[in-house]
Amino acid sequence: MANADVPAGSEVLRTFWALGDKTTQRTWVAFENGELGKRLPQTLSALGDALVALDRASSCGWGCHGGEHVLEHMLGTVVSSSSAACRLMFCGAYDEALILVRTIGETCNLLYLFALDKDAHDAWAAKSVPSQRFKVFRPKAVQERLKALGAIPPINRDTYGKLSEFTHGTKAHGPQAAFNPIGLPVFGVYQQAGPTVILNELALAVGFSGYVVHRTLGLPAEGTQLLEQTTTRLIESIGNASLSGLAPVLAQIRDSADFEKELPSEQPSSRTPKSGD
Ligand SMILES: [Zn+2]
Repeated sequence: MANADVPAGSEVLRTFWALGDKTTQRTWVAFENGELGKRLPQTLSALGDALVALDRASSCGWGCHGGEHVLEHMLGTVVSSSSAACRLMFCGAYDEALILVRTIGETCNLLYLFALDKDAHDAWAAKSVPSQRFKVFRPKAVQERLKALGAIPPINRDTYGKLSEFTHGTKAHGPQAAFNPIGLPVFGVYQQAGPTVILNELALAVGFSGYVVHRTLGLPAEGTQLLEQTTTRLIESIGNASLSGLAPVLAQIRDSADFEKELPSEQPSSRTPKSGD
């Protein structure tokens, strides 16, 4: 027998989303009233500015250079997935937001590999079938290839493993396991730890996605500078609350002279900007 107090049919979704809308407003208040500290609102602001720069870079907003647009397509998925992850984070779908962060992290590691290894970029471009790409560029294989180049993967094995728990689940985890101390399999309940951890993880993946390719996209100086400035500001805003320690990655990617040396000194011919294109 139907319970009059329990919604049915499409009303179920309206009820879920109404709860999510309420939590979204609650989350905005937490960012604005200092409840989430001073640093996290700065990260949110820096994320917005970085996404604008990434969106412009991914859509040839500074002019089209032709070519395969491999990096542009990947940056486009970073922008759209980040926007969706933020929306989920605001409405209290915390585990689901982290699942998207994992996807962005995979892309971030690939972008770093392509920035360091032109052959890897060209091999990816040559394989148009996703299953063929996955065989060669599995997340673990990408991490190993970065390490073989002497680079620390921005999304390391520890972080990736933790993020994967939200994607695949574990025996010990139910839905919303990480941010649901009361154990209810629901979303839409505001919890301070949710935005705190998720925004830092998201900022890490988005910041490094843009930073590692800002000089390999063939952008004019204005675009290169804006990408560098906005992603650096985003990375520098990241707080300590995250799934794993950030210090080793920050130390190598931001400050390492080796990283500067490893970047290709010239644009690949297929990526040379075309005037009037
Ligand atoms: Zn283009």
